[in-house]
Amino acid sequence: MTARVLVLNCGSSSVKYRLFSGERTVASGLVEKIGEAGSEVTDHAAALRHVMSTLDLGQLTAVGHRVVHGGKRFSEPTLIDDDVIAAVRALTPLAPLHNPANLAGIEVARELLPGVPQVAIFDTAFHRTLPDFAATYAIDAAVAEEFGIHRYGFHGTSHAYVARRTGEVVGRPAADLNVITLHLGNGASACAVTGGRSVATSMGLSPLPGLVMGTRSGDIDPSIVFHLVRVAGMTLDEVDDLLNKRSGLLGLSGANDMREVIARCEAGDPAAMLAFEVYCQRIKSTVGAYYAQLGRVDAITFTAGVGENSAPVRAAALAGLGRLGITVDPAANDAAERGERIISPPGAEVAVCVIPTEEELEIATQSLACLDRG
Ligand code: AMP
Repeated sequence: MTARVLVLNCGSSSVKYRLFSGERTVASGLVEKIGEAGSEVTDHAAALRHVMSTLDLGQLTAVGHRVVHGGKRFSEPTLIDDDVIAAVRALTPLAPLHNPANLAGIEVARELLPGVPQVAIFDTAFHRTLPDFAATYAIDAAVAEEFGIHRYGFHGTSHAYVARRTGEVVGRPAADLNVITLHLGNGASACAVTGGRSVATSMGLSPLPGLVMGTRSGDIDPSIVFHLVRVAGMTLDEVDDLLNKRSGLLGLSGANDMREVIARCEAGDPAAMLAFEVYCQRIKSTVGAYYAQLGRVDAITFTAGVGENSAPVRAAALAGLGRLGITVDPAANDAAERGERIISPPGAEVAVCVIPTEEELEIATQSLACLDRG
């Protein structure tokens, strides 16, 4: 019988859902503005009750939940029970906006679908294979241990999926490949994957560091925080808001959407041109760092909204890396194709790929794999 899996991705004010029958999507949708002023949907429970009332949820094999933070405990998809719920709740200080929303989804789904196995798929789990040197911040080790200060990394479901698909696209077993995956969406992160295992990633304790994002700064000198508090008189919450919501492309150019940034570049706007350059150079430095760590790179894969759609970003981020065997073929890069594809010239040492991410499908696949393992 074909497995039917409901995938739930509950954000701080949204619920994304997708119902799969095998690999086929039979229903999908998004409820937004949950709990916001003027919204009819007061909380996640109400949103989920509404969603579930519209779906045919008979014969459901599993519900797969995206859970953002799994801390050090969760390294694989996990069947949800009371103990897992308590553990996810205990991790809330590490993901104050996300884990409570994920838990709300889990609790309502358990109530409305009693008897259907519920599986948690953690954004951080794929990165539990990071070697210690890559996951360790060079601060007082006792303080780090006591407060869980550690590079956890995020977007794991997406990096895992596109790294695996890269093997298919280049026609080599993923087990033999060294891949750098670039998830460039609203949030953005890079990952070095060797033999299907994450060995470096650009996000950290939180999804704030690393690459420049739509509204997040990515890497900055941490003393900027002290400076803004001590000299500019900002509160910690104001700095938090600045770095997460008013920085990145938005902070530099006034637009958080890469399409708008590029349109402004074409119109000659210097702030947009600088934002584009900072964004692409950060990707390039990260590729260089991961190349050095991996020693050999077989493929570089772009994914998510910007990575899948923006030829100018792909070209600029990898420009000048010919000596490393990395080149982008302009015609292939600019082609109006949308599916999985290679954009490096034939025979290039490093295959540069574009692979649309399928996080929901990966959550469904991993949920079923978890049930099979028992
Ligand atoms: P995601 O988080 O993967 O949904 O990515 C969303 C982001 O992708 C948007 O904020 C846009 O900046 C970006 N995006 C979508 N389409 C394009 C495009 N054609 N060119 C450049 N950026 C795009």
